[in-house]
Amino acid sequence: MKKMENQGSLKRCRVKDNFWTPIQELISDTVIPYQEKILNDKVPGAEKSHAIENFRIAAGESQGEFYGTVFQDSDVAKWLEAVAYSLERKPDEKLEARADAVIDLIEKAQQPDGYLNTYFTIKEPEHRWQNLQECHELYCAGHMMEAAVAYYQATGKDKLLKVMCRMADHIDARFGEGKQEGIPGHEEIELALLRLYRATGEKRYLDLSAYFINQRGKNPHFFEEESAKRGWTHFGMDPKDTEYNQSYAPVRDQREAVGHSVRAMYLYTAMADLAAETGDKSLYTACRVLFESATHRRMYVTGGIGSSAHGEAFTQDYDLPNDTAYAETCAAIGLVFFARKMLSLEVKGEYADVMERCLYNGILSGMQKDGSRFFYVNPLEVIPGLSGKWPEYKHALPARPKWYACACCPPNLARLVESLGEYAWGENDTTIYSHLYLGGSYTSADGTVVKSQSSYPWKGKVSYEVKPGTSFTTLAIHIPGWCKEFTITVNEDEIALPVKDGYCYLTRDWKDGDKVTLSFSVKPRRVYADPRVREDAGKVCLMRGPLVYCLEAVDNGKNLCRLLLPRSVSIVTAHEKDEDIGSYVSLRFTGLKEKSFKQLYQDQPPETEPVPVKAIPYFLWGNRKQGEMRVWINEG
Ligand code: ZN
Repeated sequence: MKKMENQGSLKRCRVKDNFWTPIQELISDTVIPYQEKILNDKVPGAEKSHAIENFRIAAGESQGEFYGTVFQDSDVAKWLEAVAYSLERKPDEKLEARADAVIDLIEKAQQPDGYLNTYFTIKEPEHRWQNLQECHELYCAGHMMEAAVAYYQATGKDKLLKVMCRMADHIDARFGEGKQEGIPGHEEIELALLRLYRATGEKRYLDLSAYFINQRGKNPHFFEEESAKRGWTHFGMDPKDTEYNQSYAPVRDQREAVGHSVRAMYLYTAMADLAAETGDKSLYTACRVLFESATHRRMYVTGGIGSSAHGEAFTQDYDLPNDTAYAETCAAIGLVFFARKMLSLEVKGEYADVMERCLYNGILSGMQKDGSRFFYVNPLEVIPGLSGKWPEYKHALPARPKWYACACCPPNLARLVESLGEYAWGENDTTIYSHLYLGGSYTSADGTVVKSQSSYPWKGKVSYEVKPGTSFTTLAIHIPGWCKEFTITVNEDEIALPVKDGYCYLTRDWKDGDKVTLSFSVKPRRVYADPRVREDAGKVCLMRGPLVYCLEAVDNGKNLCRLLLPRSVSIVTAHEKDEDIGSYVSLRFTGLKEKSFKQLYQDQPPETEPVPVKAIPYFLWGNRKQGEMRVWINEG
């Protein structure tokens, strides 16, 4: 099968968007410097990181012990990757100099044989490469490879790229056909090696990625054998639990999205990318099946995935508890990576729809409005007294903490938002694709420039101004799955265009300055879950455009479960301005509030009284007075 579309290169994108640019600015101006302080342990009261100090010790520039998780290095890698995208968007000499200094340190921490990992260098050098199941050496290498490629592409500086090529060569010399058998316990290096291959042209990196993907599950007892051979454990994880890390069967035989949801997404992303790179039909088919499993039956309305804190994992079809949801920010980010790679294989609106769902809801909810606090877990219901406290709710915190001992999500969110242009745009020889509505511009390989203006998600108006290049014929615009009616005008003329697989294809003899305008309504709508989702039975979710809405106690009082949204009641919008969360559009309706009983049970149904109800976008929850929250509202 042939790759249909190439992911937009960040160099070709400019973002100037009413919604996303302020968030990107927040990441550049606040989150990246804040994370830098965290990595250097300069934020009082935040969880200790020690990540930079680990590199200093490994580089021989400082004395001391390793501190942190076995994957602590990856926090530095993801921060560097976010820095690279930020520099690409907004040059900053001082930030670049500080990143260069971190890269110098990383180079010094690299061992003579190319090995790079501060945990094993400082703490257990004799245990290198013995515990792929638990110890994240390949995972950390993967993240640093991604940072290296991004930094090279943003700045032209190849020091980190060379460091990571040496590490990739070191890994390639050890693992593969006819060498030591091995697969990562936490996938990531597979997709990173594909990026490294594209940045360097070194085919061995493509082959090594293919080896790790194809080898996975071929020997489902690999981690057991590895465990028996080394006779020690790091976390005490069960090497027999092969669903957890998707090694229970060869990847082409896997039929359901299972196990740790972030691991799953990183693997599937790499599979889709490899299929696009090599034209491997069987790999594409497996990706398609896994995408359907993950998104048709196991995804929250917010784009969150991973229903259980136990193993941070998928459970079974239609099991989507709201209050004990895991829905890790990283998992929704991983789902965006996966969907984006699927788009390159086949341009279908459902992939762009999934990206949109995740981005505007379950990912953005991971960050406090001011960029200083982050969620790891993104529940769809919060109950004071239980959430964050009671054992089965312990993970579902009611407020964003400053940082985490396991700090995967904040830098992951930073790097995704800073590189958003790559997700919004794509191209092939003749066509430019607008997958997400993002104001700014895209310049394609043939010199076509498409300038876009967007008032999404608050309003349904997007326009494109085209300056055609040498081979451009078609502008393909994604129409979101939820949007049933829209108008398109070219210059002043309204035209009728069919939607093909979620896209409108405008092919014409383009003239400089041709303007395409897309208009649609973003009126509030009621969304229902498949009745097989137990937790959402009898409930309704309010959405407007791509945004999921929720109720908070600060607006609606306690016991949100007592509020009913009558089927016939109309929902109106209101423009709000709030000190803590800025300007946004709320949804308001007259609901019914059930009166409490005098005793726990009674023969009569509760009486109700009309009350005003206000819903806010889910991504903004938890930014005001702490309290109850729920997405799914009882309908009655
Ligand atoms: Zn995470």
